[in-house]
Amino acid sequence: MGAYAKAKELGREAVLEKIDSLGICETGVYREKMTDHLKAAEEAAAKEGEELCLVAALNNADTDCVFLELVKKDPEKIIEGCAIAAIAAGTEKAALVLPEKEEELAASLREKAAPYGVEVRNEFINIRRNACNALIHLAACADLADAFNDCYVPGIYVSVNGGELQKLPEEKKISELADLSEAKAVQVGYRYFTAEECEASLGQLYPANGMIRVLTQKDCIVDDTQKKLHQSRTQSCGKCVFCREGLIQLEFMQTEITAGRGKGEFADLTKEIGEAMCYSTPCSMGQQCAGIALSAMGKFPDEYEAHIKKKSCPAGVCKAFIRIYVDPSDCTGCGDCLDVCPKNCIEGKPKYIHMIDEIDCDRCGKCVEACEEECIHITTGKVPKLPDRLTKVGKFKKKRH
Ligand code: SF4
Ligand code: SF4
Ligand code: SF4
Repeated sequence: MGAYAKAKELGREAVLEKIDSLGICETGVYREKMTDHLKAAEEAAAKEGEELCLVAALNNADTDCVFLELVKKDPEKIIEGCAIAAIAAGTEKAALVLPEKEEELAASLREKAAPYGVEVRNEFINIRRNACNALIHLAACADLADAFNDCYVPGIYVSVNGGELQKLPEEKKISELADLSEAKAVQVGYRYFTAEECEASLGQLYPANGMIRVLTQKDCIVDDTQKKLHQSRTQSCGKCVFCREGLIQLEFMQTEITAGRGKGEFADLTKEIGEAMCYSTPCSMGQQCAGIALSAMGKFPDEYEAHIKKKSCPAGVCKAFIRIYVDPSDCTGCGDCLDVCPKNCIEGKPKYIHMIDEIDCDRCGKCVEACEEECIHITTGKVPKLPDRLTKVGKFKKKRH
């Protein structure tokens, strides 16, 4: 007998008892006892006179969607978990809601879900419209299905550096899961941490989106933060002023810093805006995504100081701080670089030393790959004296001496 059939046969009270006795919790951002979570939703619906619907989904803040692996790997299990949660919540209405971009995945599940009375939809969870519904995370569905298949093991789902999603005991230290010897920072859930902080356990730092990712000296924390905020901003529904405007401002400041236009006051502004977002937004997007910027700027001030005050990117990632030049003593004037430049920003003619116009250059690196003489260099340091006009190969040194 399948998990759902067992739960159905047991009936609601026995299902709730079993969930309680196993200590199953809602997962994702809103971690609390599952039975309390469902009860609160039931009460909210009753108060408003609304029919309760059980909705299983990812958190809105989750733009990386690593938990979708659970659905892709064993869709029946997640559907059954969703239907079991509906029994526990005392409703016959259940929906499995996937992100808007996952239309194909949703379409592939509809037929499987129908016998369980579970509707499958694609949408961004509108928190206000779902105020009287019981929202649970997809990982919680997996836990519920396991419980009624008698194979539930407590733990936290995590993917380390993009690896397979695995369930691990919450006592496991983060430092035991990844090689931190080269770590500059570690992303755990929606926060950055130092390698030292990763002596804490999974349960303590809690990766609510299932992600642990090590950033090394080759990664730029500012650039990483900018990209994450950009992802969040483009996926936010934009209905709340604090989330909509806050994400625009936070992303703007990170972009300015990566472009070499950072200002000292950005740290205080980020704190002010980020904290307001955490407390004034109704869904995980506004509440969690500010934490990305808050933790990056709060825990890695040296990285920001290098960008803002010293105008350099220690990782050599931010293009604004990278210089590119043709070494005049090695250039043969072959023209190979000029042919591949998509920006037409290399000046030269046969047998003349070629020159790069750094204003138009976007540091794509195509010319570096094309130059067989290996005389185009990318550096975060100083650039040697270069010709200021087209100069015949071999003549530049002579001019200087
Ligand atoms: S917090 Fe952001 S994503 Fe959530 S409802 Fe408000 S605007 Fe939309
Ligand atoms: S880095 Fe790209 S854009 Fe810049 S000069 Fe080379 S090929 Fe052109
Ligand atoms: S490819 Fe290299 S050697 Fe040839 S013109 Fe360009 S910089 Fe000079």
